[in-house]
Amino acid sequence: MKYETVYRFGQSVWPILFNRRNIPKTCPACKGTGKVILADKKKRLCPECYGRQVVTNWINSEWYVGDELTVGQVRIEHTCAFNDGEDSGFSNYGHQEEKYKEGYMCRETGIDSGTVWYIDKLFASHEEARAECDRRNAKDKLGRAV
Ligand SMILES: [Zn+2]
Repeated sequence: MKYETVYRFGQSVWPILFNRRNIPKTCPACKGTGKVILADKKKRLCPECYGRQVVTNWINSEWYVGDELTVGQVRIEHTCAFNDGEDSGFSNYGHQEEKYKEGYMCRETGIDSGTVWYIDKLFASHEEARAECDRRNAKDKLGRAV
């Protein structure tokens, strides 16, 4: 079996990332006091915010282009399709869809251990990456799935 990958070793690539920001909000469980009163009237540390009075609140903002990366490892995960006939209702047996995943590990984000960047979020130029971000952000604004 021969594989031809989209990118090669040493090539510069640009990832696109979805920027999620954490804007902590007042804990709704304790209304920001950090404590809760139980049935026995004892005050306890709020189990939702652990006394911090605020909780994590992720706000999705938008797609953006990450820093330039250098390809250092290619990971291909190709699962063959098979069908052992009987559809027993247990998905572990009987039927398997063909799956192909092409991922890259880069010098800047770790090779062997670190981030695996998949081809749907990796581009050969900053311009292409920017264009894809614009496309996805425009779709987001229309409230459609990306
Ligand atoms: Zn709380």
